[in-house]
Amino acid sequence: MFPIKIKQFTKTIPALLALAFAGSAVAKDSKTLDVYWVDVEGGGGTLIVTPAGESILIDTGMPGGRDPDRLHQAATQVAGVKQIDHLIVTHFHIDHFGGAAELSQKMPIKNVWDNGIPERDPDGKANSNFLLRIKPYRGMTVGERHIIQPGTELPLKQTNGTAKLRVRCVAAMKKFVAVPDATQRNPLTDKVKWVAEDTTDNANSIAVIVELGDFRFWDGGDLTQNTEARLVTPYNRVGTVDVYQVNHHGLDFSNNAVFVQSLAPTVSVMNNGVTKGCGAAAFAAVKSARVKAMYQLHKNLRDDIENNTTNEFIANLTRDCDAHHIHMSVAPDGKQYTISIPDKGHTSIYKTRRK
Ligand SMILES: [Zn+2]
Repeated sequence: MFPIKIKQFTKTIPALLALAFAGSAVAKDSKTLDVYWVDVEGGGGTLIVTPAGESILIDTGMPGGRDPDRLHQAATQVAGVKQIDHLIVTHFHIDHFGGAAELSQKMPIKNVWDNGIPERDPDGKANSNFLLRIKPYRGMTVGERHIIQPGTELPLKQTNGTAKLRVRCVAAMKKFVAVPDATQRNPLTDKVKWVAEDTTDNANSIAVIVELGDFRFWDGGDLTQNTEARLVTPYNRVGTVDVYQVNHHGLDFSNNAVFVQSLAPTVSVMNNGVTKGCGAAAFAAVKSARVKAMYQLHKNLRDDIENNTTNEFIANLTRDCDAHHIHMSVAPDGKQYTISIPDKGHTSIYKTRRK
């Protein structure tokens, strides 16, 4: 299915910007499911607002002001939410949990879902400053803390007149949900290229599937190649998705080609930075899955500049970025979704694949 362009402005002006933001903020009144990829410069910061207006934040960027500010701004000014109902921290690397404690001082965080705070550096490094870094996260004030398991579903409100909403954990700590009944052996199983085992916390990442009716979105944190492969071979425990948040910011440690091909997304969104992510192999793997559109938060400005999607699909093109976000709005019936870069005036509509 090719994107249908409904409008494209070559130049953004403040009035258009205001309109775009107004459009984002009223989204929940129209019972859409909204996802905002906030620019945390190559960290994780994906904000989801359900048709009922509940908010789910997956990862919190880095500490130090910038990322918590951007997340707070996006939540309150763009998405129009006053609190984070559910925070999921995919794993204990600083670009994912780092901003949480500061954000909790700017707005209430009701529930935190993670793998359980490790007692030592989960990468197994000696003499690391992990304990110092984790201290604010351990001490932050939140409503309730939960340890997530494969199969855990967030307790979310359903809304009259919308398709069924479901946010479900499919992988955590290298453990997976059960194979769905009647699943055939994945024909790509023998094509997996296994790599050296990853002993960092990336491999432990929590992966979630967000569904509204037939629509399916993947956020798998920084899951790495062998864990990705085990999740979909010999049996695909995830199924296919419409939108793939490219694992690990598009780094080559992740994005096993068989994994991405098994998920077979229509659209990919990469939360990369100016020089982080957008690796040649990861990029090729996503392309090999024949996605129809690839979005990036940043243009890759390293020497391998050929590893970029077209500028129209990139939120931030320059080194001194303005923290433009990417917005997705899924129709209440789950049958189509609109992806936009409000600051650029880019908008495309995609049809949901039927399950
Ligand atoms: Zn990361």
